[in-house]
Amino acid sequence: MRFELSRLRTAPGRPFRLTGQEPLSSVEWWGEDLPLVGAVEVQASAFFQEERVFVTLEVSGRVRRRCSRCLAEMVEAFHHRDFLEVPVAGTGAYLELRPLVESGVRLALSSRPLCRPDCKGICPACGADLNRGDHRPGCEATRPHGDPRLEKLKDLL
Ligand SMILES: [Zn+2]
Ligand SMILES: [Zn+2]
Repeated sequence: MRFELSRLRTAPGRPFRLTGQEPLSSVEWWGEDLPLVGAVEVQASAFFQEERVFVTLEVSGRVRRRCSRCLAEMVEAFHHRDFLEVPVAGTGAYLELRPLVESGVRLALSSRPLCRPDCKGICPACGADLNRGDHRPGCEATRPHGDPRLEKLKDLL
């Protein structure tokens, strides 16, 4: 998706609208490639003023990733709205929205996605997936008084 700059320039201050889909196959997220489920829905409005374009950009869609607690595969729905100021002096005939859409999706993604709000995650001590069942037998995390070495120390004192 893109805005034609010559049209925007003919009417400074007047907003032009674009609605459509940006076909992104994946988005880069901290060195990881997250696949998108379907296209990104985009609603954009832009106007030209003094060699700048002011863009209101709304992106929404769904992305495939892993739960930050239990690592299960999940789909995160995202929605993000941004107001951007893009300098366009000396640029080409178009304002391409794709890079703006990509950064909008990145900003929309949760830094700690959860497969469900009450995900119990994986026990750091025994590695059991606590959504599926209990700790492994003898797991330190299930001992009532925590670190056994501290218990011995208390006995000595
Ligand atoms: Zn989870
Ligand atoms: Zn455990």
